[in-house]
Amino acid sequence: MNARPLLNRRLHGFGTTVFAEMSALAVRTGSINLGQGFPDTDGPEQVREAAVRALREGRGNQYPPGPGVPELRAAIADHQRRFYGLEYDPDTEVLVTAGATEAIAAALLALLEPGDEVIALEPYYDSYAACVAMAGGTRVPVTLRPSPGPGSAYRLDLDELRDAVTDRTRLILLNTPHNPTGTVLTREELTAIASLAVERDLLVVTDEVYEHLVFDGEHIPIASLPGMRERTVSISSAGKTFSFTGWKVGWVTGTPELVSAVRSAKQYLTYVSAGPFQYAVAEALALPDSYYTGLRGDLRAKRDLLADGLARAGFRVFRPAGTYFVTTDIRPLGESDGVAFCRALPERCGVVAVPNAVFYDHAAQGAHFVRFAFCKREEVLREAVERLGALTPAPDPDPDRARSTS
Ligand SMILES: *Cc1c(COP(=O)(O)O)cnc(C)c1O
Repeated sequence: MNARPLLNRRLHGFGTTVFAEMSALAVRTGSINLGQGFPDTDGPEQVREAAVRALREGRGNQYPPGPGVPELRAAIADHQRRFYGLEYDPDTEVLVTAGATEAIAAALLALLEPGDEVIALEPYYDSYAACVAMAGGTRVPVTLRPSPGPGSAYRLDLDELRDAVTDRTRLILLNTPHNPTGTVLTREELTAIASLAVERDLLVVTDEVYEHLVFDGEHIPIASLPGMRERTVSISSAGKTFSFTGWKVGWVTGTPELVSAVRSAKQYLTYVSAGPFQYAVAEALALPDSYYTGLRGDLRAKRDLLADGLARAGFRVFRPAGTYFVTTDIRPLGESDGVAFCRALPERCGVVAVPNAVFYDHAAQGAHFVRFAFCKREEVLREAVERLGALTPAPDPDPDRARSTS
């Protein structure tokens, strides 16, 4: 074997993630895993049965059409009209992908030239940085920061965003509702982003997988703002909305030109995927409003349960307006290193969380923030809260031991 590193230089630094380490730690210590964001109960029985029916009836067992099965593309177009008044032609303006993850990858691979700059809201979902790198782009983080004061939330600094745009900026990669902070961008913020995009002629790729998980305020697709439909690639997925994260059915909506560009990259990534599940998701999207309100209400209650419990345990809590996640500041507990804290937490109280530092380019910015997921059964959250309540300030840890695995 020659001496050249196996992993190419574009992916340098993306070799392993902290999620694998934390999940392994959860299994080894029998801890409650509030690290990774997947529900511990499956979505609606009727949707599962729709998948079984499709399998049995031989729908989707062979390669489905490249853009997705017509039933699902029609259902996606209906969904955009029903919830947002957005009109998309199911034949030319909708593309089904292998989850939002593939949609993000295909959009960036399709739209970026090497050297193009991509502005992304930091802290960011882990695949963004890797996909920008694979596409040869340069990521330019704009950091969301907690506003001061109690009950505070993370906010976008619009001046900082404006200053981040250069002549090389190709696109803004948005994520609202935002993982990991739980921030939901407001109409004012989105309007400012939209006018910047129009003024500087930028594309926007927007990841809206938590569109139906907004507890305070409302989700506004940036594509619905003036001048944005023609420059926005909107991405969503069935995973979070229907609690079937293993199915990996996602989609893109946009103009025929944008969708066709994304499809060009997508067809050489997976070509197609999830045949029978596409039929089931088509049925899921047509579920009545009561399904969507029920899901939101259920997760809002879980957010409150976990956020209140974390506050009682001594964390500073940034109460999320949306998503599966609550971000906390561990400094009130006398801690400052989130990575060390998360590595020690399973032994200390049997709970696993994720250090937000992994979502930053400059890890120091997020060093003292830790993310917990609340998309778990109520009894699991109650048990987690009880365990976290027993958390006493760390018994003067030996710093060498706590950091020895890094
Ligand atoms: C979970 C998640 C995804 C991945 O969606 P899939 O449909 O499972 O590929 C994308 N973006 C964000 C912000 C997520 O939290």
